[in-house]
Amino acid sequence: APALDVARIRKDFPLLQQATVYGLPLVYFDNGATTQKPQVVLDTLEQYYTGYNSNVHRGVHHLSQKATDAYEEARKTAAAYINAQYSHEVIFTKGTTDSINLVASSFGRTFLQAGDVVLISAMEHHSNIVPWQMICEEKGAELKVIPINERGELLMDEFSRLLNERVKIVAVTYVSNTMGTVNPVKDIITQAHARNIPVLLDAAQAIQHITIDVQDLQPDFLAFSGHKIYGPTGIGVLYGKEAWLNKMPPYQGGGDMIKTVTFAKTIYNELPYKFEAGTPDVSGAIGLAAALNYLQQVGLEKIQQYEEQLIEYALQALQQVPGIRFIGQAAHRSGAISFLVDDIHPYDLGELLDKQGIAVRTGHHCTEPLMDLFKIPGTVRASLSFYNTFEEVDKLVAAVNRAAAMLR
Ligand code: PMP
Repeated sequence: APALDVARIRKDFPLLQQATVYGLPLVYFDNGATTQKPQVVLDTLEQYYTGYNSNVHRGVHHLSQKATDAYEEARKTAAAYINAQYSHEVIFTKGTTDSINLVASSFGRTFLQAGDVVLISAMEHHSNIVPWQMICEEKGAELKVIPINERGELLMDEFSRLLNERVKIVAVTYVSNTMGTVNPVKDIITQAHARNIPVLLDAAQAIQHITIDVQDLQPDFLAFSGHKIYGPTGIGVLYGKEAWLNKMPPYQGGGDMIKTVTFAKTIYNELPYKFEAGTPDVSGAIGLAAALNYLQQVGLEKIQQYEEQLIEYALQALQQVPGIRFIGQAAHRSGAISFLVDDIHPYDLGELLDKQGIAVRTGHHCTEPLMDLFKIPGTVRASLSFYNTFEEVDKLVAAVNRAAAMLR
């Protein structure tokens, strides 16, 4: 397959064409936080608001029908993107955080009891820790943590040891947002399923880098955010296996999630509406579908290949920086590179990178327990996208060298 034409691709992203920082062209390496949007997504949002903005699932009128069709078509697009068996296995949420809260709350209310265990990992984002802590506290269940080694890889022997009949769900991230570790999720799912334990995958940092086929991988739940995969903010996906979703009670009550309501009793709607109370983010869903279609058009395989080359190049190039220390050195990685230089505070380094037009993220990246484990206050994180170039990586390395020289 021909390589990715990155120069052409960058033309699809107006912000990359227009944005300057302190008069310098923007070098955007904060894609793990959020991605830029291609023109086709922006056009889709505008077309919706100027052409057929209307509430869904309600009106008999033409516009409402049109909006409903587009919203439901977006669900089919998202379902096809992850190869879900049924489109009603795709619930539209506000994002990864909302998706995980839905499962923690709804699954937890039904299936967790005192003494049960929820198993997460040491590298989880706060959004895959706190919702579980909340439901565990409510139910008297226990949160247990799969440990990692110094390279930032899960200790799979420990995982196997922790799996017992007390564990009611395993919730782990596919890719670490801080270290870029790609976890052996297939192995995790196989081992959990051998004990009839369901698995939730936080795919917030995986969906934009790795092709996910839920029928092949077999997660019971999978969560991701639209804004990290070139779509709008405010929209996300919870994929859940039909059998589980049917057994779970609604997360929120309101319009759309009901069949009939009397003051005495409410009959809940069927999937997926049971989990979509209130007016959904119609434009967000349609915009997300436009982003997913755009990625398909560019070619997921090409994107993946290019990103692998780019991260390999970036790791090699950064390795040359005197005093650099990588936080996370997993054999299998994607997306993010976290590092420190000497004992320079990550915030100081990040600030001097910003002054050179380079956007990175500094801090704990919503993984405070992971920072505690490494005994560091935070890291500098460069997170890559297929619209980044090899020249931008060179700029990053030069800028890190310059900044470090000033701060040493
Ligand atoms: N999980 C991971 C691994 C993430 O990287 C993020 C976003 N930083 C989230 C969950 C939360 O996503 P959101 O803020 O879009 O809900």
